[in-house]
Order: sequence, then structure tokens, then C-alpha cells
Amino acid sequence: MGGQATVVAQDVEGEAGRLVPVCEGGVERWLTLELASTIRHDGDGGVMDDLATTHGTTRWIQAQADHLTDAVSVGGITVDEGLRIEITELRRAVRALFARAVDPAPPSSADARRPMPANQALAHLNTVAAREPVVPQLNWPGQGTPPVARLLSAESDPHTRLVAALARAAIEFLSSPQREQLRACTAPRCVRYFVRSHGRQEWCKPSCGNRARAARHYQRQRLVASDDSTTP
Ligand SMILES: [Zn+2]
Repeated sequence: MGGQATVVAQDVEGEAGRLVPVCEGGVERWLTLELASTIRHDGDGGVMDDLATTHGTTRWIQAQADHLTDAVSVGGITVDEGLRIEITELRRAVRALFARAVDPAPPSSADARRPMPANQALAHLNTVAAREPVVPQLNWPGQGTPPVARLLSAESDPHTRLVAALARAAIEFLSSPQREQLRACTAPRCVRYFVRSHGRQEWCKPSCGNRARAARHYQRQRLVASDDSTTP
């Protein structure tokens, strides 16, 4: 017992965020999937990283404003190299836990080399989340208005709040039923994880499906051709 941060009302700096996905056109967008998807194929057999530079990382954070609106004011955040490394380390932990979530199916090919061990990833995620002390609060103006849960924060440093919010988003997703719908896209070259929105979805987007079908077709043609050439 003991050693836990105590947050009292007068310490509160502001809200620390809603733990819900953003819904766009009927499609749920999860912040943690957005983070994992900053690694993507470059169309040429390689991998592109949106977080390779501080400028790219700043741009990505600004693009997540909808997700982070209650957690931290992204407008005031300028990413330095230290923050960029913290976010990419957190992404490494998230992708390692995604690999565990899709097991026994294979992980994304981008994670096959030098993966972070799952236990280390779990410890890292929880440590980053714990850097921001938060308290839940129930808001309920009265009859006819549904009660709303909020998280209040005692942390004033926006960098800490940002990284902790990214970690909480990962915790929320990985402990939700959506985790069971997580898949690694099986299209050639694709390195993305996605949440399956219907039964047997194998690919993260239609263009990946087209590429995968074309590759299977090509494979079948080659098999037929090699059968023909060995038939006397
Ligand atoms: Zn894909």
C-alpha cells in the first residue's frame, strides 16, 4: 500500500481525455491504431515511417487533434527529439502487443525483425500511462441528461500528458472487445494492423485486397505453367 499519487480537486489541471474512439462516417477510428499505422509500406517493398522526424511527428500529432481534444491541447505542442523517441518507443510497445493480440496468426512483417518482447512492451506501456496521475469524475447535471465519465489530470507538462494519453488509448483498445477483431493485413508488402469490420475481412483496405488477389492469381498461373512444362 502507499506510494500512489493522490489527486485532489484543487490540483486538477484539466481533463485527461475520454476513453472512446472517434467515429467518422460510421467507422470507428482508434487512436492506438493511428499510432501503429504510422509505419506503412512505401509501395516499393520498403517501409515508410511518418514519425521519422520531429517535423513529421508534429504533423501527425496535429492530425490526431480530434482524438486528443480532451487530453491535451495539441496546438501548443512542438515535438523535440526526446518526445519523438518517447512516442516511437511507445509505438514499438503497442505493435509488440498487437503481435501478441493476433497470435497465432503471424504479426505484421514489419514486426518480425527485432520485436520488443511482449512482457517488456506491457511494462513499458503501463509505466508511460502511470506518468500522468488521473482521477475519474462523474458529471451528471440532472434528470434527462445522461451522466458522463471524465478523467481529470493533475499533470501540467503537455509532453507528459500527450504520451500518457497515447498509452491510455492503447490500454483502452487492448482491453476492449475490439482487440479480438484486430488483424495484420496479409496483402503483399502491407505492414498495417486493422480492426475487422466484417466476417472474413483479410485486408486493411480495398487496394490491399486487389493487390493480394492479383498476387494469388499470378501464383496460380505460375503453378499451372510449371505443371504444363513438366507434363510429358
Ligand atoms: Zn493492407
